[in-house]
Amino acid sequence: MKKQFAVIGLGRFGGSICRELAEQGMEVLAMDLNEDKVNEFAQVATHAVMADSTDENTLKSLGIRNFDHVIVAIGDDIQSSILTTLMLVELGVPHITVKAQNDYHEKVLNKIGAHKVVHPERDMGIRIAHNVVSKNVLDYLELSDEYSIVELIVGRNIHKKTLIELDIRARYGCNIMAVKREEKIDVSPMADAELVEGDILIVIGADKDINRMEQDLF
Ligand code: ADP
Repeated sequence: MKKQFAVIGLGRFGGSICRELAEQGMEVLAMDLNEDKVNEFAQVATHAVMADSTDENTLKSLGIRNFDHVIVAIGDDIQSSILTTLMLVELGVPHITVKAQNDYHEKVLNKIGAHKVVHPERDMGIRIAHNVVSKNVLDYLELSDEYSIVELIVGRNIHKKTLIELDIRARYGCNIMAVKREEKIDVSPMADAELVEGDILIVIGADKDINRMEQDLF
């Protein structure tokens, strides 16, 4: 059976999630207080309803507990976001993802039982900072406070060097998970394969080790 999603709040964030889920052929219930937003998504989502998610009876009558995953993308109204999340938790929704506006909001959401809290502006800010600081960092994904996955572009320094020669795991404690070259991606790169300028390395490791490696080799 197809997974059922509900998106509460159809601003830029919730709206783009809703569009993408629909694009991927998923069943999506779109909900917003604002009539214009609901009309905008009537053609996109499977169902679009104008409703206040802080009203428990509304949530119950929509059968929200039967959805596999509910995304709460209420923007500035932190109180509504918290109240909605609390009710979804109490109703037993199996997966609840909530957008946090700030660190306090995030803390409360975690405490009351949201399964995943996202902080898109902050996270995107961190990614962009990494991109602009180093011209070799193409993308950056934070796994925890200490660990990340980064995409690094091979420059002249290590052109024609092999992974064995670079000895990255022993020297820096990082792992090369994959090498991308043009459209191809090699997910188990051979130790003796030569890197070429422009290749993209996907590296996993501790931030401090990745930084050390970046400074030495990139
Ligand atoms: P973004 O930063 O993602 O653009 P917005 O603050 O613009 O966020 O969007 C949040 C959306 O959530 C708005 O369209 C707003 O009408 C909707 N919203 C706010 N409170 C509720 C609520 N209690 N129930 C349903 N939708 C809500």
